[in-house]
Amino acid sequence: MDGGADRRPGRAEAEAAVRVLLRYIGADPQAPELAATPQRVVDALDEHFAGYRRDPADVLGAPLAAPDLRGQLVEIRDVSFSSHCEHHIAPFFGTVDVVLRVGAYLPGIGHVADLVEVLARRLQLQERLTREIADHLEAALQPEGLLVVVRARHTCMSLRGPCRRRAWLRTLEGRGAFAENPETLAAALGLGARVPAP
Ligand SMILES: [Zn+2]
Repeated sequence: MDGGADRRPGRAEAEAAVRVLLRYIGADPQAPELAATPQRVVDALDEHFAGYRRDPADVLGAPLAAPDLRGQLVEIRDVSFSSHCEHHIAPFFGTVDVVLRVGAYLPGIGHVADLVEVLARRLQLQERLTREIADHLEAALQPEGLLVVVRARHTCMSLRGPCRRRAWLRTLEGRGAFAENPETLAAALGLGARVPAP
């Protein structure tokens, strides 16, 4: 009747699950101050994981052909994102830099930001997020070279102790002409040592 284990639960079921978790941690979901919490948590989940309801392949739109600009270097810097790690469902957040040597198509800055948004608003690993951004940009724009650099802080790490609070992670993915030594290019462009915004 309910369609089995693959059926997407309804909102009431999701809110009931939050009440179970509240009881699990020792809180009383009947307490007046917690009455609206399940509803707010499910609202937040809808927002944080909206990326599951969009196809990243659709986001880049109709690519803009510019054969006369082939070979030009385009940098899109500091596209901020927030995501959630698939291990703890804890937030991690930071910025994405994209460096692209134009091939078949020009990148639209709004489209790149939308792509980051769709991929980040899912359960992720920073490493996979970096690779997926590169995969989709490579497939859609067919650049001569592509470098994606992601720098992020992970709350599942920073909440565990003061010595880990300032730690951050950088991941790089190079494609085409930039596949060989992405870290050399990143350093040359000053993408190396900058700490992500707190
Ligand atoms: Zn984690």
